[in-house]
Amino acid sequence: MSGEQELGITESKEHNPGDWYAEVVQKAGLADYAPMGGFIVTRPRGYALWEGIQSALDGWFKETGVQNAYFPLFIPESYLEREKDVVEGFDPEVAWVTQGGYEELEERLAVRPTSESIITPFIARWVRSHRDLPLRVNQWCSVVRWEATDTKPFFRTKEFLWQEGHTAHRDHEDAWAETMRRLDQYERLYTDVLAMPVLRGQKPAHDKFPGADTTTTVEALMPDGKSVQAGTSHHLGTSFAEAYDVTYADEDEEEQLAHTTSWGVSWRALGALVMTHSDDQGLVLPPTIAPTQVVCVPIWQEDTREEVLDYCGELVDDLEAAGVRVDLDDRDERNPGFKFNEWELKGVPLRIEVGPNEVSDGEVTLVHRPDGETEVADRDDLEGAVEEALDTVYAKLYAAAEETLESNVREAESRDEILGTIGRHGGYVETGWCGEESCEAEIKEQIAAEIVMVPLDDEEPPVHDECGVCGETAERTAYFARTY
Ligand code: AMP
Repeated sequence: MSGEQELGITESKEHNPGDWYAEVVQKAGLADYAPMGGFIVTRPRGYALWEGIQSALDGWFKETGVQNAYFPLFIPESYLEREKDVVEGFDPEVAWVTQGGYEELEERLAVRPTSESIITPFIARWVRSHRDLPLRVNQWCSVVRWEATDTKPFFRTKEFLWQEGHTAHRDHEDAWAETMRRLDQYERLYTDVLAMPVLRGQKPAHDKFPGADTTTTVEALMPDGKSVQAGTSHHLGTSFAEAYDVTYADEDEEEQLAHTTSWGVSWRALGALVMTHSDDQGLVLPPTIAPTQVVCVPIWQEDTREEVLDYCGELVDDLEAAGVRVDLDDRDERNPGFKFNEWELKGVPLRIEVGPNEVSDGEVTLVHRPDGETEVADRDDLEGAVEEALDTVYAKLYAAAEETLESNVREAESRDEILGTIGRHGGYVETGWCGEESCEAEIKEQIAAEIVMVPLDDEEPPVHDECGVCGETAERTAYFARTY
């Protein structure tokens, strides 16, 4: 029994979310820590989740004119230097290669922290006329950022998997439409695949992606009250086009500067998924992304073994034929209780229990992972009942996350109120903001909360007339939160 205990989660999500998260990630078999600090090894169960995210996004990208490509892992220093904001913004986090074999390199090579500096020069080469626009490429790859802040599996690692999309357009309007199209797709990833509502907004000017005109973001609230920057879509204006000469001939053969965008979602989405739905029993996954959606656990005595297993074998075949990702756990050496715990730990959304009673009554028992709700379904209508139960599980997870988000956006009108509200409850605080970074810095210093976003619409009037921090005239609404 003690061996079984150790398999389970021992930390509490509520009281010790950091250790609990690390335990879930490891014990559910998603990832291990690599020997180098800040790096992780992604195990098959974790990678399968990443593949789920990939396949959803990749499909939507391709439906909307994006083609996949692949660019080198290394970027020559001279390329990086052509866009000065990128150099400044990423300099403290860039890993460099200075030697190849025994040879000192003539020019240092940056391990890509993001690939604008190597992709944009090629876009420049490929774009000649307005007929070549819009041009859209995406790559699925890893990037390296030597993060100074604490790392945490998936949320913040020094090497992380992501996709980065890069596009060029004829004018500001078309580039802005692209920026929004990708932000919409990121929101859809969270709401329709990961069962998480998000807030959409833009970063304040001082926190934009280096070189960007506008950085738009989707932010997700974690149960411990911190916000996660869950995906970003950048309107880069013409700064990269200028730096890398992306020009095209318009209808009148006049040379014009292109407008570019870039957008990325990383495996941080997995961290947010785990943190949002999982509990003290382990991983909880929405059926949309769970590698195994249903596990069938037979419960037998020696004399009923054969009939129970036959019944289970057939129902699993039927579910598979109906397109359900289902496993049969017919291991002899484990008892049903052990199996229940193990599949709960691994986050299988729905369990089917079958004992001799179910066999004789032509029924099955369905157990929902998130809350243990149990229902009995007719064997004859199994596919329908399972489909409905999986939808219900998704709806439950989404509703819980939505409730967390909705009850954690609060207004505050003064410095004390901002500090007190975030200090007590976490979550988002909405307040008027004069636009000065120093007002954010003051809050950051006291409770480590920052402005995670301002509304997308520049014209929208601020929630209050005065800045919640300094009392000067408010220009925008700011959303303060602690972050990951
Ligand atoms: P950026 O290119 O900085 O806009 O980053 C794109 C997205 O990658 C961000 O919105 C984050 O969700 C994610 N991200 C940034 N840094 C890391 C990191 N160190 N580990 C994991 N994900 C990251």
